[in-house]
Amino acid sequence: MSEIPAAGPGGAASPRLLLRRLRQALAAPGDGQQRLNQIVTLIARSMAAEVCSVYLMRGQDILQLSATEGLKPEAVHTAQLKVGEGLVGVIAQQGRAVVTANAREHPEFRYLPETGEEIYSSFLGVPIQKLGKTLGVLVVQNERPVSYSEEDNEALALVAMVIAEMAEAGTLIPRGTFGDDQENREPIHITGQGAADGVAIGPAHLHEPKLLLPNPIADDVVAERVRLREALDKLRADIDEMLNEETILEGGEHRDVLETYRMFANDPGWLRKLEEFIATGLTAEAAVDAARTEARAKLNRSPDPYLRERFNDLDDIAQRLLRRLIDPDKTGNQPEPGAILFARALGPGELMDYPRGVLAGIVLEEGSISSHAAIVARALDIPLVVQALNVTRDVDTGDTVIVNGDQGHIHLRPRDDVVTAYEEKLSLRLQEKESFNALRELPAESLDGTRVKLYMNGGLAADLPSLNQSGAEGVGLLRTELHFMLNKAMPTREQQAGFYSHVLEKADTRPVNFRTLDIGSDKVLSYLKQPREENPALGWRAIRIGLDRPVVLRMQLQALLRAAKGRNLRVMFPMVAALLEFEKARAMLLEEVERLEEDAKPASLKIGAMLETPSLAFAQDRFFETADFISIGGNDLMQFFFAADRANEKTAGRYEVTHPAFLSLIRMIVERCEKAGTELSFCGEAAGRPLDALALASMGITALSMRPASVGPVKRAIRAANLADLRKVAEGAENEGVRVKQALIGYCMENLIPI
Ligand code: PEP
Ligand code: MG
Repeated sequence: MSEIPAAGPGGAASPRLLLRRLRQALAAPGDGQQRLNQIVTLIARSMAAEVCSVYLMRGQDILQLSATEGLKPEAVHTAQLKVGEGLVGVIAQQGRAVVTANAREHPEFRYLPETGEEIYSSFLGVPIQKLGKTLGVLVVQNERPVSYSEEDNEALALVAMVIAEMAEAGTLIPRGTFGDDQENREPIHITGQGAADGVAIGPAHLHEPKLLLPNPIADDVVAERVRLREALDKLRADIDEMLNEETILEGGEHRDVLETYRMFANDPGWLRKLEEFIATGLTAEAAVDAARTEARAKLNRSPDPYLRERFNDLDDIAQRLLRRLIDPDKTGNQPEPGAILFARALGPGELMDYPRGVLAGIVLEEGSISSHAAIVARALDIPLVVQALNVTRDVDTGDTVIVNGDQGHIHLRPRDDVVTAYEEKLSLRLQEKESFNALRELPAESLDGTRVKLYMNGGLAADLPSLNQSGAEGVGLLRTELHFMLNKAMPTREQQAGFYSHVLEKADTRPVNFRTLDIGSDKVLSYLKQPREENPALGWRAIRIGLDRPVVLRMQLQALLRAAKGRNLRVMFPMVAALLEFEKARAMLLEEVERLEEDAKPASLKIGAMLETPSLAFAQDRFFETADFISIGGNDLMQFFFAADRANEKTAGRYEVTHPAFLSLIRMIVERCEKAGTELSFCGEAAGRPLDALALASMGITALSMRPASVGPVKRAIRAANLADLRKVAEGAENEGVRVKQALIGYCMENLIPI
């Protein structure tokens, strides 16, 4: 490839000069197409290029010539390429510039005859992208073989950035400019993992709203520099203030995050980059965003997990800085009723911050089925899909979306026929719900006469109406920590007692298993100091905190007793790993009972434990004899039994309830409880999955506690099954080394058991 030094191109194209001209040109009124035309004309002139063209994405994989100076005008809006096709397609696909002095000899060259581009030999193209999303490609071409300079490349990349910002803000290319279909706004179907059943159709709502930059080109570079410095000072001061807050002083995860933010806010490399972008003529906010986009482009080329983490931190800090630069009033963030929430990740507390009843569905890019946010979503009966890759990039607030939590599908901006099909599905679900209502008063009794008790899991006042609606026979697990997580400060004894009393009233004669505070791991109380731990799931959590810092546990026990005055009370302790722990916690409760006047005592008191660690299954007989009842917390028990993190999607799928090793453990616990005459139930998520519930019931667990919406489907399955036969099938498969789950599914299908 012969390279001749540039005569025209290169010299004229100082990035700053180009931006200044662009600002002047765009200040004049005009529609999107006129602006695009102005941009290409101006770039061609400034860079002494014979051709300048903008190709924009239409749909997911088509690039269309949308404006040109130099190519045949009739090719505009007709000439198009697929992503990956030709030099333009490769730039879009790889998200990086291509430069050559002899385009025709380039291996990726593909000639579009309708444009008349065959005579142009030199080619420089850059992607138009915003945070990893390619919106189009910007190209200059020259007839003679010239080598474009680094400065040309930079200038073009800068203009591409401005086009991207304006395209996003809709100021350059209003939606629908190019005909009926909305370019880049076409339907997208994404598959993630269903984490809470149900289907919802509604408007999208972004948990972290996208910030639209009003005008990316600066009027006054000095003023922008001042704005950036002021915003950075404010950001640093806010971070320092947060770090000095009392709850953060002791360390912990929050502190680490803030320390990382502080490091970025003072990082000379990042600050230099921002200054450089401002020096070229971008506004402060456009400079912050340009630095983000550049970092994302680098990340896309190197999918190293460490870099990804770093980028996430940088992205968060950039977002915080942008919020200080852009008028917050323009980014109001209240979801409308029936909205579908989109977030990268979401903690259970953040989810509960949304007003009850407003969210109709949730979609997360990260997260897992067993995380506590997923549990809260299921408790609130909100369909949830997790692991929906890049979804927050592709969706905009207000887009119509469908969430299918049963199968993990998300449809962004669905076609009418897809909406109709889903509306049909929704109405079928409604009918199914009605058929479950018909089962409400009937017992969950198997064909061979085993009566299984079905309870519900809950934790919020909003859950309680479900007791009547679902036909649950009581609350098998009341996660008291959810009430704590809803509060901004530690609820007082009176507040707690008020809530527990409300629960007992609503439950009426039905039993409620109050589980004492189960915090730690991914359940964080912002107002309670927690040490930083390498392995929080295996760390200082639940009853361990309760016994080591008894003030909180004692106060909760007092509140429970106060609420239960003259009524029946059932209390269970979470994450008990040894007999001694149970005895200590039990003694504390009995001490509190002793302190009460006779008429302030509960009518009856049952003290139980959650069996969530393998060690407790092997505890001394005395444990099984002392506990009034035991509830197997299958979520934690399985993660510890299989050494596979429940909140990590990569490992959470590595086990199942019907694994022979786990079924053996279950049989052993059942036998030990039968021998000691101790009530046994199972309250992990598996209890609400009909097939797993059948497997557990067939192994002798005759009390299952689940989210309210599962009571109907589980009851329907039990009433259609012969549990003794199911056990034979499971054990037969175990002996033959066949996958038990598969054998059970086969049996259920043959015998028309709805699972
Ligand atoms: C469990 O571990 O199974 C359980 C019910 O407790 P949680 O999910 O709240 O940890
Ligand atoms: Mg648990």
